[in-house]
Amino acid sequence: MSLEKLSEMLFKGVDKTPEYFIAKYPKRELKEGAVVTRYAPSPTGFQHIGGVFAALINERLASQTKGIFYLRIEDTDQKREVAGAIQDTIDTMHNFGMNFNEGTTGDNTEKGSYGPYRQSQRSEIYKTFAKDLVKKGLAYPCFCTPEELTELREKQIAEKITTGYYGEYAKFRNLSPEEAIEKINNGEKYIIRIKSPGNFENRVEFHDLIKGDISFPESNQDIVIIKGDGLPTYHFAHVIDDALMRTTHVIRGEEWLSSLPIHVQLFEILGLDKPEYAHIPTIMKNDNGSKRKLSKRKDAEAAVSYYKEVGHPMVSVIEYLLNIINSTFEEWRVENPLTDYHDFSVALDKMSKSGALFDTVKLNDVSKDVICKMKPEVLYDYYTAWAKEFDAEMFELVTSKEELSKQVFNIDKEGPKPRKDFAKWSDVKEKTFYFFDELFEKETAEQVELPKGVTLETAKSIIEAYAKEYNFNTNAEEWFEELKVIAINLGYCANRKEFKANPDAYKGMISDVAGAVRSAIAHRTNTPDLYTIMQIMGEEKVRDRFKKFMSI
Ligand code: GLU
Repeated sequence: MSLEKLSEMLFKGVDKTPEYFIAKYPKRELKEGAVVTRYAPSPTGFQHIGGVFAALINERLASQTKGIFYLRIEDTDQKREVAGAIQDTIDTMHNFGMNFNEGTTGDNTEKGSYGPYRQSQRSEIYKTFAKDLVKKGLAYPCFCTPEELTELREKQIAEKITTGYYGEYAKFRNLSPEEAIEKINNGEKYIIRIKSPGNFENRVEFHDLIKGDISFPESNQDIVIIKGDGLPTYHFAHVIDDALMRTTHVIRGEEWLSSLPIHVQLFEILGLDKPEYAHIPTIMKNDNGSKRKLSKRKDAEAAVSYYKEVGHPMVSVIEYLLNIINSTFEEWRVENPLTDYHDFSVALDKMSKSGALFDTVKLNDVSKDVICKMKPEVLYDYYTAWAKEFDAEMFELVTSKEELSKQVFNIDKEGPKPRKDFAKWSDVKEKTFYFFDELFEKETAEQVELPKGVTLETAKSIIEAYAKEYNFNTNAEEWFEELKVIAINLGYCANRKEFKANPDAYKGMISDVAGAVRSAIAHRTNTPDLYTIMQIMGEEKVRDRFKKFMSI
C-alpha cells in the first residue's frame, strides 16, 4: 500500500497503465521478414557522416524487407539542443535519398500512428512505466546529492572496486516507502533509479547481428531512469520507445554496446519484448599510419556539408558508404555497372565487426566511377546546380556555353572504359578550363606544363612547324598520320623500338610532338584525346592557341 502511495506521490496525475500503452501501440501488421528500424538522433548539432552511415544501414534494411524506417528525435537532453538540427537531419537524409515512412517531419509535425516521435513529448509514457516500477518495488527515488555521488566514486576508485551506484553502495535502495515519502515532503530533490536484480557474477549470452555471439556480466547498477527534470535517461527511453514503436531491429553505433547489459535488464524488468540488436562499427580514419575516430572537430569530411561544398554527388557518397557497409558491394558494382544501388542487398552479417575505415581516396575512386557513367546532359545539370551555389564564374561560363559544355562533358564517354576525370564538381574547372578563353587567358607561364624532357624553346619550334602544316578538316586517323609526317620531318621517331635501338639518331619520339601540341592547346600534359579537344574547340581557337603559345 505504501509503495502505491509513494508512486502516486512521485507521479502525480499519471493515471494510465503500461498495459494501456502496450495496447495502444499494437504489433505492426507487416509481411513476414519485414523489419522495423529507426534513426534516432539527438538534435544536438548538425549531421555527421557517421549519422548518414547509421541511417543508411537502417533505411536499406527496412526498405529491402518492405518494412518501416522511422525517425525518432531523442531530445531528452534539452540543454544541448541546437535550433534547426531536426530540420537539418530531415533535409540531410532526404538529400541522401532516404525518406522516413514515419516519424518527426518537422519541429512540430509528424506522421505515423506510433508517436509522438519526439521523446520530449512522450513524458507521460515514461512516467507511466516508471510509476508502475515504483509501485512494484522495482524502482525507487534516490536522494543522493551530486557531491555524495562524487564522494562515493572517489572512495570506490581509491579502494579499486567497480564504480557506480549498486548493491551496498546504493544508499537509498532499501529506504522504506514511508521514509522516502517523508523526504519528498521535506522538499528533498530526487531522481528515480531501478533496483537492479542483477548479479555481476552471472554472465549473459547475447547474439548481436554484426558482432556475433558475445557475452557480458549481468548489470547490477541501479541506473537512473528518470532524471531530476522529470525526463527519462537514454536507457529508459530507448527500451520503452523501441518496444512501443515496435522496432524489430535496433541498429546503432557500437558506443552503445557497453550499455547493452542495462538495456537487456530493463526489457526484463519492464516485461517488454526485446528487439534484435546490431552494433555498427565506428567510422575511423587513417591518420599518418594510425587509426583514429573520424572527428567532427579535426576532419572536414566528417561534416555532411563538406560533400555538398566540394561537390561529391550524393550517390557517390552513398555508394562509398555501401562499400564500407559490405565489402561485397564493390564486386556487385563491377558485375552490375548500371544497376541502381537500391538493388544491392545490404547484409548485416557481412559487415566488418571492427572499425570501418573512411578513406577519401577511395571515395574519389567510387565517385569517378559514378560520374563517368552519367550522360552529358545529366552531368551538366548536376554540375550547373553545384556551380550555381559554389562557383559563380563557372556557372556563368558553362550556362552561357551550354552546347560547348555538353560536348566537353561528353568526351570519351562511349566505349567500355569511359574517361574518369571528375571525382567531384570542384574538379571540373581545372580539368576543362582550357575550353574557355576567359579562364585560359588567366594562365601564367609557370602554369604551362610541357612534355617530359621537352623545353619551351623546343616546344615552340615544334608548334611553329606544326601550325604551318595543320589541317583542321580531317578525321582522327588522317590527323594522326599528318602529325606523324610532321614529326618525322622534324627529326622525331614514330616507332618506339627503333627509337630505343638508336636514340641519338632522333630528337625524340612522336609523343613529344603530340605533347607539345597538347601543351599549346591546353597548357596541360594530361588531357583527354587531343584530336577530340581540337575538334570541339574549332579551327579558329586552335590556331589562336598556337599563336599565343609562340609568344609565351
Ligand atoms: N540518440 C542516440 C544517439 O544520438 C541514438 C542511439 C540509438 O540509435 O539508439 O546516439
